Amino acid sequence: MDKKEKLLDELNKKCDEICKCALRHSATQSVPGEGSADADIMFIGEAPGRNEDIHGKPFIGAAGKFLDEMLETIKISREDVFITNIVKYRPPNNRDPLPKEVEDCRPWLEKQIKLIEPKLIVFLGRHALNRFFPDEQISKVHGELLKKKFKNISVSNFFALYHPAAALYNGSLRETLLDDFRKIPKILKMIKKEIPEKSKTIKNK
Ligand code: URA
Repeated sequence: MDKKEKLLDELNKKCDEICKCALRHSATQSVPGEGSADADIMFIGEAPGRNEDIHGKPFIGAAGKFLDEMLETIKISREDVFITNIVKYRPPNNRDPLPKEVEDCRPWLEKQIKLIEPKLIVFLGRHALNRFFPDEQISKVHGELLKKKFKNISVSNFFALYHPAAALYNGSLRETLLDDFRKIPKILKMIKKEIPEKSKTIKNK
């Protein structure tokens, strides 16, 4: 484990101890996220589902398999990115997270972003998009690079996608999501030209 991975691990343990989110009482465990602590891309979904709650890992059910397939098409491995959610505990029966639950998990997510410092944040679905930018509509901004400032977070490149679970069984949404996903390498390349390289490079770039 390198130094940054260790810091991320410690951060997740600490946040799990102090997180005020009421969902912690009904969930099996927290799902902090997984992947590289030095990732260029951070994917942010909504909340863990049943499988994620059982295993403590994000996006491992049907939506996760679809996400893995899409990552494969752009030749990026799951280990090279960081995948997490706005809410770190499973809402009962997979209901939408309540605003208070999102708010209570906010410091955890923001600390992860500050530590990892990804070059690009990819929102998986409208809940993640609207958690950051409440006035944007996913139907309007999906598939385009959003150059925006969010509070004191240094990341200023965001990209919204339809949620893989919503697109899984909907033919036209699925095509749109696949088209949008294919744009990621080009967008990352463009961003990397603007931002100086991190000290550590990751494979498959
Ligand atoms: N859907 C999400 O938004 N997150 C997960 O981790 C799994 C499914």
